[in-house]
Amino acid sequence: MAINWFPGHMHKARKEIKQVMPQMDLIIEVLDARIPFSSENPMVPALRGDTPVIKVLNKRDLADPEVTALWQQWLEKKKGIRAVTLTHNQRNEALGILRLAQEMVPDSIRDTRALRIMILGIPNVGKSTLINTLAGRPVAKTGNEPAVTRAQQAIKLPDNILLYDTPGFLWPKLTPEECGYRLAVTGAIRAAVIEFEDVALFAADYLLQAYPDRVCERYGLDEIPADGLALMDAIAAKRRFFARGGIPDLHKVSEVLLNELRAGTLGAVSLETPELVEAEQAREALR
Ligand code: GDP
Repeated sequence: MAINWFPGHMHKARKEIKQVMPQMDLIIEVLDARIPFSSENPMVPALRGDTPVIKVLNKRDLADPEVTALWQQWLEKKKGIRAVTLTHNQRNEALGILRLAQEMVPDSIRDTRALRIMILGIPNVGKSTLINTLAGRPVAKTGNEPAVTRAQQAIKLPDNILLYDTPGFLWPKLTPEECGYRLAVTGAIRAAVIEFEDVALFAADYLLQAYPDRVCERYGLDEIPADGLALMDAIAAKRRFFARGGIPDLHKVSEVLLNELRAGTLGAVSLETPELVEAEQAREALR
């Protein structure tokens, strides 16, 4: 099933970014460390052109540290892109990103005018949180809902840096379809776009494959279920989630599984690895 979700305001966001891009010295692209590939905006490479970029793998606290290290290596060594990891409330680390930005822009620019940095990223990856951390005060709206919108604004930072916020809506990566599912699992795109229970089933299948022991421990299962659906049935049985007629209440199971996964109750979980997305890309290329 292809997932189609390209609202009109995303076209507007794209146009706005295209307009201001030539004035930017550097882009900070904020990604979700749990899904560094799926949370990349597919329009960014084309919009960015030759403008230098730092990719920030944010929400590091929620992601599997070993997998995050693989991603950082993959981006830096394989793709030649500067990549750092970050988590909220780490002001010094966040300011380190600005220092790195200064190093990446030629002195000839920095000596003559303010350094212009634009923050890009799909909704809910933590852009506003990062901007507020860098500014040391609340200048950008934050929220759990992906749909927080804001006007374009330049924020003055010390060391002659101007930070440009971008519209909250950007095009998420919905192909291959796994990317769409992963974005839905993290809550970056609304459950309504993809059937809620399908999202939970995708998560259940992945958890079983990547973190089988943790899942069994959390839900008190003695045996590793054969597949995602069997896992959901097992959770229903353990928690006594039954609908009318005694059938497993998969909606309730979906709610619990996704909420616990998002809240970190299942531990720090990454939803994709470089190896996995490379295999998916190879498969897509054959289509
Ligand atoms: P934006 O839409 O990209 O501007 O994202 P926000 O800054 O509004 O953040 C979206 C949600 O993620 C908010 O509830 C933030 O509190 C939360 N958030 C941001 N950064 C982090 C982080 O490093 N770790 C965790 N666990 N949550 C974060």
